[in-house]
Amino acid sequence: MAAVTLKNVVKRFGVFEIVHGANIDVEDGEFVVFVGPSGCGKSTLLRMIAGLEDISGGEIAIGGKVVNNVEPADRGIAMVFQSYALYPHMSVEQNLSFGLRMNGNPKADTERRVKRASEILRIAELMKRRPRQLSGGQRQRVAIGRAIVREPQVFLFDEPLSNLDAELRVQMRVEISRLHKELGVTMIYVTHDQTEAMTLADRIVVLNAGNIEQIGAPLDLYDDPANRFVAGFVGSPKMNFLAAQVVGNDGNATLLELANHGGARLQKPLSGAPPAVGAEVVLGVRPEHFFEAGEGDCDIAVKADVAEHLGSVSYVYANAGAAPGANAGPEELIIEREASRQRATGDHMVVSIKAGQSLLFDKSGARIR
Ligand code: ATP
Repeated sequence: MAAVTLKNVVKRFGVFEIVHGANIDVEDGEFVVFVGPSGCGKSTLLRMIAGLEDISGGEIAIGGKVVNNVEPADRGIAMVFQSYALYPHMSVEQNLSFGLRMNGNPKADTERRVKRASEILRIAELMKRRPRQLSGGQRQRVAIGRAIVREPQVFLFDEPLSNLDAELRVQMRVEISRLHKELGVTMIYVTHDQTEAMTLADRIVVLNAGNIEQIGAPLDLYDDPANRFVAGFVGSPKMNFLAAQVVGNDGNATLLELANHGGARLQKPLSGAPPAVGAEVVLGVRPEHFFEAGEGDCDIAVKADVAEHLGSVSYVYANAGAAPGANAGPEELIIEREASRQRATGDHMVVSIKAGQSLLFDKSGARIR
């Protein structure tokens, strides 16, 4: 087992800098997920840890040893890719043992490792099959098995579940979680899927355009995001953002007027200094934090466009037209309601927002606390 440390890691492709000085401490035995939109640099970071990509600046250490100039094979890591990269002409057993055999690992030890991997992944009955005789989920298990037999200090996963259908993805997610508990080994996992990140990670690293926006435990990111990007990225359906203006301040509370809701006002207590009167701000409200009319601190009227009934809850997609002079809009809101069949296109609804269950951001996206 080993910790992985990135200090001011920079990556340039030609003149383009795509990772701008990343600092990440992955603890021994921790499960850390790199998440972010397409092109944010998460795969490149992982490939630099693996040694598949040179680093342009900074330092990467695995188990306390700087590995900048260490070959991938000597880093004590094993990587699982999205494309399973299995040898088609070999059986599952041969696929699992191939790397060890090539390295001249003793036969008895190779057999022991392959047997253990097949038991952990419950693929013992598939050992004689070829990859084309396996389902997608079974192939991904074999790919993970090839990593397990190497007995690495660190597992690296690059979007390993992207090729699987939705049901299998959920199943394999649970398996990977179980594997982490069973092996207790450091794992770093790249995905663009925030649900995968939330369910797998001890800690999540949220990346955006080559910068780290925030590092934290899943529920800490959900409840206490550092900025609007993280607030909008973590959580499904997404947080709603309502345009507002500061119309007054009283001690550490600020009075907001919602731009698209007929002058509706909300008094929001803050722990720090309130923004200046006149400032345009954004109020963040999660779909589950809209309450029945009169139950919160500020009621707003919206018009339902579409309702999705999921059985356990319903999501109402509603909108409010931009008011004259509003600083944004028209606004689309996603509102979670108790399961119902009723609300449909064109319904007018009044919902309520609570000051304590909303977040405030300035125009640049920084949190106002
Ligand atoms: P995705 O989820 O789409 O795979 P990502 O976050 O993993 O995205 P990377 O693959 O790390 O993103 O790529 C980050 C940026 O670096 C992208 O803008 C990409 O175009 C660029 N990039 C990646 N590899 C190279 C390369 N070999 N040469 C030039 N640019 C590259």
